[in-house]
Amino acid sequence: MLRITADHVVYKMSAKNAPAHSVPSGSTVVFETLDCFENQITQESQLLSGIDWDHINPATGPLYVEGAEPGDLLKVEILDLRLAPQGTMTAMPGEGTVGGQLTQEKTRIIPVDSGKARFSDKVELDLSPMIGVIGTAPADGEEIPTGTPGVHGGNMDNRRIGKGAVLYFPVNVPGALLAMGDLHALMSDGEVLICGLEIPGEVEVRVEVVKGKVLPVPVVCVDGVVMTVSSAPTLDQAAEDATCRMMDMITQNSGLDPQDTGMLLSLKGELRICQIVDPMKTARMEFPLDILEKYGFQLP
Ligand code: CA
Ligand code: CA
Repeated sequence: MLRITADHVVYKMSAKNAPAHSVPSGSTVVFETLDCFENQITQESQLLSGIDWDHINPATGPLYVEGAEPGDLLKVEILDLRLAPQGTMTAMPGEGTVGGQLTQEKTRIIPVDSGKARFSDKVELDLSPMIGVIGTAPADGEEIPTGTPGVHGGNMDNRRIGKGAVLYFPVNVPGALLAMGDLHALMSDGEVLICGLEIPGEVEVRVEVVKGKVLPVPVVCVDGVVMTVSSAPTLDQAAEDATCRMMDMITQNSGLDPQDTGMLLSLKGELRICQIVDPMKTARMEFPLDILEKYGFQLP
């Protein structure tokens, strides 16, 4: 199986990035990923303010998927996520939602094993491994820093993007140029401190080019739930946009009229926050797949 090693990293999602590798559609590939600090923090005496900020949020890749042309979709199935034995968290005054209440920096190295994060003698937390940054190259020659989320994916910090998730991204440039990084062993909706349990690891994915289909990308499907994901300067905008995208996706693919779709969204659509700490805020609208399937909706 092809492995993309972590010496192939990018800091922008861009058509200008030279592909690390090229594979046919349908291939399985492993991406080795550094943590969001580019593994610079190795002990608790190192503070976030002291690391090289030109080397944060590295994304491994990009992968060129043969046959992917602008207008297609790139389907990415997350087959497995494997984590390093310890993760890192940083708290820093002025950063994140609670940064105004912090007066000192702090770094914690947190052991991870047997499915648990050992936060303290008193508290062990169940892991829920996820990918913070994943996406394709944006359109129109735009270069988007890996720390910023958008229509191309990027730093969505959507805790639903874990093992078993199926993702749909836009193909804006030939080959799509998929890149990913910023794994979290665990993160809650909001990511209010500005980090999850940041951790190096590797991600096994299957990539497939989908032709002739339109979805309000990025779209994620996992555990019987399909979701639209939107990033915007404010959480209000992101929430409204994620909702409107789900509305469009349902009405265009189910035969339901907008009124019934709105009713179902108001009954079973779960509007949730991904993160409120990145340059753009990210929200998602989740909806049960089995209800949509009753109306003939099928993801490609
Ligand atoms: Ca992130
Ligand atoms: Ca992160």
